[in-house]
Amino acid sequence: MIITGASSGIGEASARLLAAKGAKVVLGARREDRLKQLVEEIRSIGGQAVGQVMDVVNPSDNSAIVEFAKEHFGRVDVIFLNAGLMPSSPLSARKTDEWNQMVDVNIKGVLNGVAAVLPTFADQKPGHVITTSSVAGLKAYPGGAVYGGTKWFVRDFMEVLRMESAQEGTNIRTATIYPAAINTESLDTITHEGMAEGMTALYQQYGISADRIANVVAFAIDQPEDTNVNEFTVGPTAQPW
Ligand code: NDP
Repeated sequence: MIITGASSGIGEASARLLAAKGAKVVLGARREDRLKQLVEEIRSIGGQAVGQVMDVVNPSDNSAIVEFAKEHFGRVDVIFLNAGLMPSSPLSARKTDEWNQMVDVNIKGVLNGVAAVLPTFADQKPGHVITTSSVAGLKAYPGGAVYGGTKWFVRDFMEVLRMESAQEGTNIRTATIYPAAINTESLDTITHEGMAEGMTALYQQYGISADRIANVVAFAIDQPEDTNVNEFTVGPTAQPW
């Protein structure tokens, strides 16, 4: 199983849980030190893990991690396209570099990952693509125009992937996860002062652990092959969004 964005937060928690359940995990992210440490920790308790530095924005890095996974473990059953960032801000702040960064990582990163793994999944039948969208991909909120837009994209894209793979007989399984406020490093990507303060307060009140999302990823993988689990919304029910 490949996990992008495995160096912290939801990806890291998922790697730990799934490795503990016996999955052979292939971890991708940019921070090599964090990946190495996690791989060592998983191995030290008997799990099977390898890591490869990658930037999801580069198509070649995505192809490389698929090949790396096949070299180490022979096949790829699941890819969890989870890498993403959330530098939310009001549009009037015109943080256009951050808009572009979110489009590159949150949208193109998912496209690159799927493009890299599709031929393998088409040969193997089936494969499983899991993505991390967000409640921001279901509900609009001030400050979340671009971030939310990238997550709406993930929702639509995954729905079409499911339909087309059913039509084409590759039967790729899909699961799109819609977390709400998860206490990870994602808030660190917010550079707009007012937004950072507001989101920090919101997360302090409503945030839940990344382990909760890891459980959802494990649940999706555990479903029988003839079940297509498409959507999970995980978060406190009192979520104000
Ligand atoms: P973190 O910031 O803890 O994790 C983000 C991960 O993405 C890191 O491992 C980071 O690794 C990786 N990443 C970022 N950019 C790239 C890149 N260009 N190439 C490869 N890896 C990259 O936050 P979360 O765990 O919260 O985020 C995981 C996903 O969950 C994201 O898609 C986020 O949008 C989504 N999400 C988060 C929510 C939350 O409340 N936290 C709510 C809803 C969805 P590195 O920097 O080492 O590359």
